[in-house]
Amino acid sequence: MTHNKDNCIFCKIVDGELPSAKVFENEHVLAFLALDQVTKGHTLVIPKVHKENLYELTPEIASNLFSVVPTIANALKNAYDLVGLNTLNNNGAEAGQTVFHYHMHLIPRYGKKDDFGAK
Ligand code: 5GP
Ligand code: ZN
Repeated sequence: MTHNKDNCIFCKIVDGELPSAKVFENEHVLAFLALDQVTKGHTLVIPKVHKENLYELTPEIASNLFSVVPTIANALKNAYDLVGLNTLNNNGAEAGQTVFHYHMHLIPRYGKKDDFGAK
């Protein structure tokens, strides 16, 4: 299957055709809770424009996105009793990418209560 804007679930979320639990939104960027919630508060940050992965981001798109990541991270820090937070981005199916619209994972960590990753 080719990946494009017309069959992209994240574009449908941006356009309001699919629901999402929004964490942050501005003109260029949307952040919403991930369906799988590997930990509580697991959030995805995406550009509103359809770009498949990191290789396709322009400096301007990357700048708009990364400039609000600290704000979103602080919102999560205030909303949840997290003790740490991982950022993660999979590029390409072989790297674990399953949705082909760029997204940065923000994954709250809860220390000993946290069953994500190495213990
Ligand atoms: P990837 O494996 O591509 O790095 O991550 C895909 C992410 O998209 C996962 O966190 C998964 O839970 C999330 N996801 C897939 N489909 C949907 C959806 O329809 N709604 C939401 N909110 N997240 C989704
Ligand atoms: Zn898209």
